[in-house]
Amino acid sequence: MGNMKIYDLLIIGAGPIGLACGIEAKKANLDYVIVEKGCLVNSIYHYPINMTFFSTSERLEIGGVPFISHGDKPTRREALDYYRRVASSWKLNLKLYEKVENIKKVASKASEKPIFEVHTSKNIYQTKHIVLATGFYDLPNLIGAKGENLPKVKHYYDEPHPYAFQKIAVVGAANSAVDVALETFRKGAEVTMVIRESEIRKSVKYWVRPDIENRIKEGSIKAYFNSEIIEIREREIDVKTPKGVITLENDFVLAMTGYLPNFDLLTMVGVEITNTEQLYPMYDSQTQESNQQGVYLAGVVCGGMETNKWFIENSIIHSEKIIQHILKNSC
Ligand code: FAD
Repeated sequence: MGNMKIYDLLIIGAGPIGLACGIEAKKANLDYVIVEKGCLVNSIYHYPINMTFFSTSERLEIGGVPFISHGDKPTRREALDYYRRVASSWKLNLKLYEKVENIKKVASKASEKPIFEVHTSKNIYQTKHIVLATGFYDLPNLIGAKGENLPKVKHYYDEPHPYAFQKIAVVGAANSAVDVALETFRKGAEVTMVIRESEIRKSVKYWVRPDIENRIKEGSIKAYFNSEIIEIREREIDVKTPKGVITLENDFVLAMTGYLPNFDLLTMVGVEITNTEQLYPMYDSQTQESNQQGVYLAGVVCGGMETNKWFIENSIIHSEKIIQHILKNSC
């Protein structure tokens, strides 16, 4: 253990922002490693198969590698091609399929800069700095209904084909729920939306909102507003509506109710969580350094429960701020 190599920087997560941090570290000649529990850009890989980004491709570019897509807005498949090309052009030091499970501070005297020991599913690393770029796509927001653990309940959606000619309930009123409702409806599913709020969310893409509202108005997609599923059984669901509890025939429940960051990893390394509702992790927005010296936050994880605050477009800048700060405080 005594002779273990000490990296300047260990980046957790090979999403777009973790990769951007790796590129900035490489430009600065820092000795870095990116550790990822799944495949390259694991979250994007798990997005719906037919998904199109809301950003135009040039806004998702990192490391000066041009992103050319067929349409203005790239598809998931084009994004996977693109980020693979980025990783190979920059020859990034990646460790894939290696989950970070534990982080300990091994040198922590007030006078000393900390050294962290990072335990993964395959290795142990020592590093002077850590970047948490772990995103928010790991843990689904559960709906809290009895029977939610049945295999017919999906918290991640891939493609519409399995739901053709089936009675499906789509839970949620934001972009993912609306996209899933429209796509499955157009591939032959009988769709009912169950929505806690009184209307489709205002944040739904402006070019999609009229489509869903008109399908609901004409009755081709049913919707129960101010309602929630309280029990799920093999063939039925119970829905609490303003007019009382109703039972609907049902084959699948697609719970598109969002995701939340894995706060355990943040708290394990001593990052404080500041707001009891939004659960914002504490960091300095000038440098991205958290309340723990040497521990930085990058990408969507910075928003806590407010998972739409940061996205690829507006958080690429985190990578430059972090590396500048590390260089200023010299390794
Ligand atoms: P992520 O891409 O989520 O990367 C985090 C990585 O950390 C993952 O690969 C994960 O596997 C890894 N990880 C987590 N825990 C560990 C661990 N313990 N050990 C090792 N690795 C770990 N943003 C835009 O700017 N434009 C868009 O058009 C857009 N469209 C979107 C569409 C959908 C359907 C969704 C869900 C999001 C969209 N976003 C968009 C948001 C954007 O995709 C995400 O914000 C983006 O993936 C965030 O990048 P990130 O690097 O911060 O996190």
